[in-house]
Amino acid sequence: MIRKAFRQGFLAVLLGLGAFSVGTAAELRGITVASDSHSAQVTLDLTDGARQNVFTLENPDRVVIDLPHTHMARGVRAPASAGVITGMRIGPQPRGTLRVVVQLKSALPAHSTWGSSSDGRLLILTFGETAVAVASAATGPKSVRAVHAPGEGDRDVVIAVDAGHGGVDPGAIGHGGTREKDVTLAIARALATRIDAEPGMRAVLTRNRDEFLELRERIARARAAHADMFVSVHADSIADRSVTGASVYVLSVHGASSEAARVLADRENSADLMGGIPVEDSPLGAVLIDATQSEIIGMSAGAAERVVTALEGVGEIRKAQVQRAGFVVLKSPAIPSMLVETAYISNPTEERRLRSPDQQMRLADAIASGVRSYFLQNPPDGTRIKQERRMASVGDAQTASAGH
Ligand SMILES: [Zn+2]
Repeated sequence: MIRKAFRQGFLAVLLGLGAFSVGTAAELRGITVASDSHSAQVTLDLTDGARQNVFTLENPDRVVIDLPHTHMARGVRAPASAGVITGMRIGPQPRGTLRVVVQLKSALPAHSTWGSSSDGRLLILTFGETAVAVASAATGPKSVRAVHAPGEGDRDVVIAVDAGHGGVDPGAIGHGGTREKDVTLAIARALATRIDAEPGMRAVLTRNRDEFLELRERIARARAAHADMFVSVHADSIADRSVTGASVYVLSVHGASSEAARVLADRENSADLMGGIPVEDSPLGAVLIDATQSEIIGMSAGAAERVVTALEGVGEIRKAQVQRAGFVVLKSPAIPSMLVETAYISNPTEERRLRSPDQQMRLADAIASGVRSYFLQNPPDGTRIKQERRMASVGDAQTASAGH
């Protein structure tokens, strides 16, 4: 451990002397400060990074943040003092460490946490009431601990809502000329609105305009938003105009649940061809499926079953079971994902209904209530829904013991 750290430090010094770009090192691209008379937040925008050493000094009160293997981008300046922050300095230290010093009006509790940006990492430092106390300099340098224990917190459950197709890829086209990409966007927007109205839940749209997105880009956007679930909205099409009803799919790792499911997956996967991007041709079987992946698929299926049940209330459902097939857009290694074929755009009645804002809202309602019901039962760690459930069960226990 120590030897490795030393080697990395040594390497950073060597590379720092040359004109090479350092692959493993991070760059500080900017600093933003928000401050008032009681508290402050300093955000460091980094290309990469995961470690920091934070300690305090007295006379004057300072918080020092050391970032190993980090250098400063050209043009980055320490922000001007504001509110409780009376000064800031940034400068290189030996062995490739970058030091940020935040001088404070008085000794304030400090807290540091890592977050992600779309293309890097954010180190968020807070000073003031919301932060946890830092040991004073009298006890020596000490790392700052997080406010919350793992598993606790009050963040929203985030649902990535993906409107199928878009841009050069219209998706399926109904006999009346309705394009799948337009109805999926309308339903996705309605679904996002519906989810945002749900306490403890929040939606993120992968696209909110007529835009071509590669399937893997859709997953990347969901990941960037730290989504707890990915829901891709589509409308199905088939030569037989009489076929109607919704279906819900999750990723299969053992082949498709039916030939029709396989054909559908092939068609949805070919969306990338529309944008001139070759579909990755490695069969799903070649993907290493580990325990985590099968657990994710189990979670996807659990949520998808609830969506199927909710859709049954809206109208017909084509298949009462969750279907399985190798959709590329569902191949997220970390996020439970489902694909909802809301109706058949190839059926003239369903095509008309898909264009109706009322029907779009009904479909959105059904999908949202299925997803909600899943998360009420299976709240992720750190979410408000989990916290409320824990408090509710404590309440139950107290009520129960009060009865004795
Ligand atoms: Zn589609």
